[in-house]
This record gives sequence, structure tokens and C-alpha cells, in this order.
Amino acid sequence: MSRSAHPAGPRHADVLTEGHYTAPPADLNALDEKVWARTVSRNDDGAVTVGGIEVTRLAEEFGTPAYFLDESDFRARCRAWADAFGPGADVFYAGKAFLSRAVVRWLKEEGLNLDVCSGGELTTALDAGMPAERIAFHGNNKTVAEIERAVQAGVGRIVLDSFQEIVRVSHIAQRLGKRQRVQIRVTVGVEAHTHEFIATAHEDQKFGIALAGGQAAEAVRRALTLDGLELIGIHSHIGSQIFDMAGFEVSARRVVQLLAEVRDEHGIELPEIDLGGGLGIAYTSDDDPREPHEIAKALGDIVTRECEAAGLATPRISVEPGRAIVGPTAFTLYEVGTIKHLEGLRTYVSVDGGMSDNIRTALYDAEYSVALVSRRSDAEPMLVRVVGKHCESGDIVVKDAFLPSDLAPGDLIAVPATGAYCRSMASNYNHALRPPVVAVRDGEARVIVRRETEEDLLRLDVG
Ligand SMILES: *Cc1c(COP(=O)(O)O)cnc(C)c1O
Repeated sequence: MSRSAHPAGPRHADVLTEGHYTAPPADLNALDEKVWARTVSRNDDGAVTVGGIEVTRLAEEFGTPAYFLDESDFRARCRAWADAFGPGADVFYAGKAFLSRAVVRWLKEEGLNLDVCSGGELTTALDAGMPAERIAFHGNNKTVAEIERAVQAGVGRIVLDSFQEIVRVSHIAQRLGKRQRVQIRVTVGVEAHTHEFIATAHEDQKFGIALAGGQAAEAVRRALTLDGLELIGIHSHIGSQIFDMAGFEVSARRVVQLLAEVRDEHGIELPEIDLGGGLGIAYTSDDDPREPHEIAKALGDIVTRECEAAGLATPRISVEPGRAIVGPTAFTLYEVGTIKHLEGLRTYVSVDGGMSDNIRTALYDAEYSVALVSRRSDAEPMLVRVVGKHCESGDIVVKDAFLPSDLAPGDLIAVPATGAYCRSMASNYNHALRPPVVAVRDGEARVIVRRETEEDLLRLDVG
């Protein structure tokens, strides 16, 4: 299915031609386990629970909107990735999907490594005790201060993204009397998003150094001559929310080709390749994500095969899932405020959050599902658009979904699969107070990122 970049228009016809929600689901009370965190279920009273706690109780204690994160699910997903790839490979959680000190501790305990791409993420990681050698530092324009901090801390690798940075990191490392382990991020000419991948013309983006035209080979040449750097491998990240392994296949093949060129020219075999993240998750029942063990097998097979063909020893592989670990583990809980039936057009359900806590629908035309979670309802399904409270008509949370027609102000609805790129991209638009993240586990709920307060807003506003 293809997902158009233009925002859906205001007519019912758009909904019908999109093909997702032409028919309501058989049972609106059912919770598809593909899109909900593992411990989420509906109890006999009809309320939804997570980690054994009713959402109605959570709303009373923590307020709405709020993100509720299933800690045992998060840990289980970390273990599934680590087990699938085994001791011969490295799994780096991409911190930009969602990072907090509690998350860093969970990652550390579950044996994962961590990708950061800013000084703020690095500070969070180090503060929570992630060993520096398990941290990878990314980004297409790291500042000198960020590089100094990362080298000083002793991060396990810095992923070099430009010719300037190759020199910059080397200088900084030498000045600090260190030799920094680095990878070079290459652009393989493949870009994969959602359900498709395109294998041409995707050198036109800001990340990485192109394989095309010998650019990446030149970057390797330069990195190998600089004393401040220890080049350990090649990095490639091809996109996000990817379901099809074909893009990874092309990417791995091209990276291995570069390793073979490097061997031929310099007589060395770089020991590592990093194939990035981008593995898709289910936002709606239409999405069918792959399990970590399938992904590990597919990637391992591709790399082994390509290396055999090129006569290279198989390098150590790393992967960087962000969304695939944290995305499915959280949902956003909202309270319904108003419901407008626009005759012949659409029904708008307004909630107490919106684009400030989930920008993805406005930014990427992302799809989400939604459910009434404070009670069971056997009313007829009603096609709705769930919108926020912001001063923007593009402030849409869920474009098209069915909710029961007896929905009323005060009901709680929840949007699943909001663990990734929602809190981490949250804003203060309209001076909204960014919602808390509450970790729930075995009947206990605790705030891991607190709700912003009006005092927080005023503290930054120094008059
Ligand atoms: C964003 C990013 C990731 C993680 O992407 P997901 O879609 O969350 O898995 C991994 N590696 C790099 C370099 C990234 O920029």
C-alpha cells in the first residue's frame, strides 16, 4: 500500500479511496495485540489495563494526556533483539526514538548498546551510567563541543558523516591525546520508507558520504591516513518504518563491495559493518512487522553470502533499532473534550493533547489506531477523525478511525504505538505542557519523565 505525502482532505471520499477503514472492525472492544503493548488487555468491567492497572486509575493519578510505557514489554523487546543477534553482533538502541535515564538503565541491564546524536542525549546516557564504550555518537553536524565531550568520555565509536568531520574528529582526538574509534556513514543510493524502497537517486539527502563517484572510498582513504582515528567499519542507515528486507539487501551488498575495494586498495579488512535501524512496527492492524529473529537471520544471511562472494571474512554486524523496540511499548491516553458531527462531512473528536505530543501525523501523514479504553461499548461504530486542541487545522492525531457512536466528553481514548518519536518530538506549541511518561510494570506505575508545569515554562522565559 502506498502512503501519499499530501494531507488527507476533508471529504469522506478520501477515506473511502484510502482503503483502510472502508469497513469498521468486527469488534470495537477488541485490542489487536499487534499494535498494543504486551500487558495491555480489557478487564471484565470493560476498562483497559496495562501492567495490571486500569487506565481510569492511571488517569486519576497521573492526569491526561500522558504516555504509559509497558516496562516489561520494553525489556522483553530488548532481550528479543539481543538474543536474535547473539554475542557475535551488537544491538544499539537508537536513543532519539525515546530516551530517559530509566530507559538507559533498562538498556544497560538488558545488555544493549546506545546510539546518541546530540550532546543532550550523550549527557542523559552518561548520567544514567551507560558505559561510554557502549555508546555510538551520530549526527550530520556534531559541534566541536559535542565531539570533544564524546571523545573525552571515551565513546565506543563516532560515526563520521562528512569530509570536514573526518578531519575535525581526528584533530580533536589528537589534541586530547586519544585515538578515536570511528565508522564512516555511507549513502548507498537506496532509500526505504514504509512499504517501499527505491534504489535510485537517493544520494540527494544530507546524511552520509555517497558510495557513488568514489566519495566513500576517498573518505576511507583520508580516515586511514589520520593519526587521531581508528577506522573500524562502514555504516549505512537507509530509512525508517521499513517492512521489506530488499532495501537492506541492496545496502548490505554495496557496503560489502566497499569493504572489498578497501581490502584491494589498502590490504586491510575493516572488521565491522553497521546496517542501521528503521525496522517497521504495527501502527494499525494492516501492518505486519517482522520479528527480530527473522530480521537477524535475513541480515546475517545477506552479509555472509556477500562476503563469501567477495572473499572477505564476515565482519561483525551491528543494528540500530529505535522504533522497533520502544514504539509498540507505549500508548497515549487522552480525555475526549468535544465531539462535532459535521453533516455529510466528518465527525471530529477533540482530545486534550494533539500535535504537541504527537507530531507524526502532521509531519509524515502517519497512521495510528485508537480505542475507547475507559469502558466497553456495544454502540454502532462511527467513523471519526481524532484531533488535538492546538490552533492549527493540521493538528490531527488519528486521521480516520472507528470509535463507538455513544462516545461522550469525559471518555478516555488511547492511541497505541506512540512510544517512538512522540515524546521525543513533543513541543510546547501553544505553551502546551509536555505530558509525562509513566512506566508501568507488575501493578506499579511510576513517572520516569514528569509532566511539565507552568513554572517550567515561566522559568525559561526570563523576561
Ligand atoms: C533514526 C536512526 C535509527 C533508528 O531508526 P528507527 O526507525 O527508530 O529504527 C538508527 N540509526 C540511525 C543512524 C538513525 O538516524
